[in-house]
Amino acid sequence: MHMRLSRRILVSGGAGFIGSHLCDKLLAEGHEVLCVDNYFTGWRRNIEHLVGTPRFEVMRHDVTFPLYVEVDDIYNLACPASPVHYQHDPVQTLKTSVHGAINMLGLAKRTRAKIFQASTSEVYGDPTVHPQPESYWGHVNPLGIRACYDEGKRAAETLFFDYHRQHKVRIKVARIFNTYGPRMHPNDGRVVSNFIVQALSGNDITIYGDGSQTRSFCYVTDLLDGFGRLMASGDEFIGPVNLGNPVEFSIRQLAELVIEMTDSTSKIVARPLPADDPRQRQPDIALARSALGWEPKVALADGLKETISYFRKLLAS
Ligand code: NAD
Ligand code: UDP
Ligand code: UDP
Repeated sequence: MHMRLSRRILVSGGAGFIGSHLCDKLLAEGHEVLCVDNYFTGWRRNIEHLVGTPRFEVMRHDVTFPLYVEVDDIYNLACPASPVHYQHDPVQTLKTSVHGAINMLGLAKRTRAKIFQASTSEVYGDPTVHPQPESYWGHVNPLGIRACYDEGKRAAETLFFDYHRQHKVRIKVARIFNTYGPRMHPNDGRVVSNFIVQALSGNDITIYGDGSQTRSFCYVTDLLDGFGRLMASGDEFIGPVNLGNPVEFSIRQLAELVIEMTDSTSKIVARPLPADDPRQRQPDIALARSALGWEPKVALADGLKETISYFRKLLAS
């Protein structure tokens, strides 16, 4: 039987930080990639080097509207991920997660495509269980300023599981924990890019609250290895599965590490802690280890080195 190894793959949010790296990886594997993005937080610059590649196509499109194309696989990454951006237009954020999921799932149902959902550790909210296993139902304020993102992603998970049960759509759901790397937007607003840009520009490093809150930072190449393993796993394994680096740091430790690695003269200053900011976060990755044979390999200092070097070049250009 003739097997077509090259697949037509839709990446929604493909001009974003993670999406653009995913486009690179899928093209390098020989696939055809259709990058769909409305450029809300994405950046043409992230995919500029791919324009002109015959197997690559970009479409400016907002996933809250229907999309009729023919594809074999779908990666649904479209959604602003940084609190400052997803809180800028919370209604659009919720629509992107919910209507976007419905449209992508409708597309998967019609084309019989396998569909991946970029869910998030935010489904656990401000967790009362630490570290967080997939079985934990979470602790989310449904009315707070983060709810448009958290509840949107939770509703999207519900839609994925219902399309799977009701329409037999083949789904893969990953709960992604804080991920960083080159191609984060300099104005992204998330902590790693903020600290690096501040340190390289000699501006104050802004710690929100006392800096004792924790996060666990995963380098983008490790995350993409997890995406690949999850997509290649048998149809019976649908997740949700945590993908993240279990090594936990306080935000103050991160600030100190960035200052040291950039030889910066920047001073640390305190800013108010935003409402509902999770106190601690660390993935339990036992399931990813056993089901996918996956674990992160890049230590924070190594990933930061690459990311700092990216921002150095960007700020000099
Ligand atoms: P990003 O903001 O760089 O990328 C998101 C992309 O989606 C952007 O290119 C943006 O323009 C696009 N987009 C937003 N709304 C859209 C819409 N309505 N229609 C079409 N495109 C739209 O963020 P990222 O860090 O690359 O995140 C990618 C995905 O991974 C998101 O779904 C995010 O929720 C998820 N995620 C990321 C992290 C992380 O730490 N980076 C953690 C958990 C989950
Ligand atoms: N949809 C789409 N592309 C497709 C098929 C469907 O964008 O190829 C959208 C369509 O707008 C629909 C949604 O996905 O509203 C959900 O599709 P589904 O088949 O589940 O719903 P229905 O069309 O029956 O309302
Ligand atoms: N944070 C900070 N200074 C910044 C940006 C973020 O201290 O300039 C803190 C933020 O309050 C949170 C943590 O760093 O406690 C991670 O924030 P980020 O926005 O990167 O991601 P999330 O809160 O969604 O995990």
